[in-house]
Amino acid sequence: MNYELVIVGGGPAGVAAGVYAERKKIRTLLVAESFGGQSIVSGEIRNWIGTKSISGLELAKALEEHLKAHQDIDILEGERVAKISRADGGFQIETSGGKVFGAKTIMMASGSRRRRLAIPGEDKFDGHGVSYCSICDAPLFKNKNVAVVGGGNSALEAVVDLLPYASNIYLLQHSAALKGDQVTQDRIAKEPKVKTCLNAETKEIVGDDMVKSLKYQDNVTKEIKELAVDGVFVEIGIVPNSELVKDLVQLNPLGEIVVDQKTQQSSLEGIWAAGDVGDALYKQNNISAGDAIKAILSIYTYLNKSK
Ligand SMILES: Cc1cc2nc3c(=O)[nH]c(=O)nc-3n(C[C@H](O)[C@H](O)[C@H](O)COP(=O)(O)OP(=O)(O)OC[C@H]3O[C@@H](n4cnc5c(N)ncnc54)[C@H](O)[C@@H]3O)c2cc1C
Repeated sequence: MNYELVIVGGGPAGVAAGVYAERKKIRTLLVAESFGGQSIVSGEIRNWIGTKSISGLELAKALEEHLKAHQDIDILEGERVAKISRADGGFQIETSGGKVFGAKTIMMASGSRRRRLAIPGEDKFDGHGVSYCSICDAPLFKNKNVAVVGGGNSALEAVVDLLPYASNIYLLQHSAALKGDQVTQDRIAKEPKVKTCLNAETKEIVGDDMVKSLKYQDNVTKEIKELAVDGVFVEIGIVPNSELVKDLVQLNPLGEIVVDQKTQQSSLEGIWAAGDVGDALYKQNNISAGDAIKAILSIYTYLNKSK
């Protein structure tokens, strides 16, 4: 085996795992498509403990620098892990660049990504009016009409983020009720510029170079309606990046890797997971880093026992 441990991911979970693995002198390779993880797009993060305020980009830089200050860890940057399979005494890892490694243990820190609508116009206008990050993009829609698709907390929070900027905000929920916290529902219900459309199934995003309108079906009358909007914020949940190990470990119905909450070990000996790819109830930077540390301490014990 080339390595005792391969870490997949360069977000808060992957970097925390890397720092701890190096300090435990575990022979480790960390494969990161990039550093920083999902909150890289945030203008300001105010709950990264020990830091009053930091932008997503600064956090990404700080994570990368912290990891790279440690000498005894191999880092493969700018490539993805493309395949993980079982091999004698551990696992075989293949990367998008065609490299092949062996590892005794795997730490999945591959995070999650935004769920997409998969409707016409979504891909075409991604970055041209279609956004998956209200915190990042709300200021671009000053005095414009926008739609927010979704009915959970992230959709409601997107509406709140847009309130200081947009002229009109249409909140489109496919079912008969919103699902996010009542307190946020009450808050936006008081805002005259927010119009909530229930039973509204988003069907198409239309435009030329930029978004011009959104078509939805009224699920009660089956009528197709069109809203003139300059922006569409898609807030319909997240998808864990667990595909690599879907045939190896137990996933829950959401596709998250089921782990032992004390050790972060998955259902298969040799694979651990932490952060947004796992089944932790709360998805946060600090939680991802902390759970990753739990995992490394557990991996360290496991490797020592099997020596
Ligand atoms: C817009 C936004 C704002 C947020 N703001 C906050 C906040 O203010 N405070 C807070 O605590 N949390 C915040 N969060 C949540 C927080 O970002 C996540 O909980 C956290 O990033 C999860 O960390 P992670 O390391 O598990 O995964 P991720 O951050 O998703 O990182 C996973 C990394 O792995 C890489 N990767 C994936 N698959 C592969 C592969 N096959 N091979 C190699 N690399 C791979 C990805 O490119 C990514 O860099 C925010 C999330 C979003 C989307």
